[in-house]
Amino acid sequence: MKPVIALVGRPNVGKSTLFNRLTKSRDAIVADFAGLTRDRHYGTGKQGKHEYIVIDTGGFEPDASSGIYREMARQTQQAVAEADVVVFVVDARAGLSGQDHDIAQYLRRLGKQCLLVANKAEGMLEGVQLSEFYELGLGEVYPVSAAHGQGIRGLVELALERLHLEEPDGEAEAEPEPTIKLAVAGRPNAGKSTLINAWLGEERLVAFDMPGTTRDAISVPFERDGQKFELIDTAGLRRKGRVFEAIEKFSVVKTLQAIDSANVVLLLLDATQGVTDQDAHIAGYILESGRAVVLAVNKWDALDAYQRQLVERAIESKLGFLNFAALHFISAIKRQGLGPLWPAILQAHKAATCKMPTPVLTRLLLEAVQFQSPKRAGMFRPKLRYAHQGGMNPPVIIVHGNSLEHVTEAYKRFLEGRFRKEFNLVGTPLRIEMKTSK
Ligand code: GDP
Ligand code: GDP
Repeated sequence: MKPVIALVGRPNVGKSTLFNRLTKSRDAIVADFAGLTRDRHYGTGKQGKHEYIVIDTGGFEPDASSGIYREMARQTQQAVAEADVVVFVVDARAGLSGQDHDIAQYLRRLGKQCLLVANKAEGMLEGVQLSEFYELGLGEVYPVSAAHGQGIRGLVELALERLHLEEPDGEAEAEPEPTIKLAVAGRPNAGKSTLINAWLGEERLVAFDMPGTTRDAISVPFERDGQKFELIDTAGLRRKGRVFEAIEKFSVVKTLQAIDSANVVLLLLDATQGVTDQDAHIAGYILESGRAVVLAVNKWDALDAYQRQLVERAIESKLGFLNFAALHFISAIKRQGLGPLWPAILQAHKAATCKMPTPVLTRLLLEAVQFQSPKRAGMFRPKLRYAHQGGMNPPVIIVHGNSLEHVTEAYKRFLEGRFRKEFNLVGTPLRIEMKTSK
């Protein structure tokens, strides 16, 4: 299977030019699929032994009055979903734009392999002119010139490297992956049973029979692509034969218990109901409990474009505190959008159990302080000295120093942003604790 590279970026940054470059190596069959769709261009390319597919997404339509999900053409979203690596193209000459930020945020939440490429960089001093793009929080910025063919080989190499990284990575970790405890939480009728049954009906998912299911608790062990999971019962979900049914009344307590015993919670919202207070309460509890979380908005099929926009806004305003979580729009009943939930769950689990070495944390802390030091409070000036990891799932970072009780919430959020960026912490709450030395 050829890996898929998707080019994403606002219009005019040079995606088509880059697309032509990427598909112009000697053996390329340019535009294999030309004419198939109007909005997307497919092509194949080859470098060394490696063949790949490139999708040019055409670009985001700028529309200042709407959210990113509407701006991003559905086609673009699909291309991104299908891609193994996303190449996010920005314009080195025009500099950063608000739209770049929106796209970056969208990509970060997807948790995909992503390369940030600054095009039109011919004749530029990288260090000086490209530094602003680091703000996007997508790591390294790679300068290229699509028009002049500079940096293209290196870019393809990097993209392909990213893909190969994943395999050896998995092999190197000889110890078996731990079982991920997964809870599907959500209000009654959100579609939990429908989703779980859709999953369990998949060929890729192997469910094991569970002996001794008690009346109070069930858990279903299953395996998907070699990863072991355990599905934890949430309120009112019971297994009847081969399928799940919601046969009990919704129980808040059971939902909370399930959240507590899970590593990752998939919070299912019912798009036809918008975001209710109950959703917000469950979400708040997930945050409090520190569980990793993936948000899925179900019944997306039942909404028209306007209603969808309302739901997107409601999520932003009522569940803004979960903005670290990946957000997916699905239809359990039509089995749409269910596949991408798995990488999101794995990503959330990885982030929640990530190891953060003390030297790296301390370096980041000191860099952050240098960039912006905490405010003086009266005669006290907090002094941040070093940081180490104090826990996992959720990750806890303990900062040591003096007068730290005067560090503001805003400053803690600033630090959180820095740490999140560095460790790619999509899908997990992150706690930062201040420890003042006596
Ligand atoms: P798209 O809308 O993102 O697909 O952008 P295009 O590929 O159509 O390019 C937009 C404009 O940028 C065109 O006028 C290109 O000639 C120009 N362009 C593309 N790549 C480069 C580059 O590397 N350097 C410079 N200076 N201009 C470029
Ligand atoms: P639970 O209480 O959360 O387990 O919800 P169910 O799975 O029992 O679903 C509740 C109702 O929503 C049922 O009538 C389902 O057919 C319906 N439903 C579930 N998923 C979808 C979906 O993706 N789209 C639509 N339109 N209806 C759905």
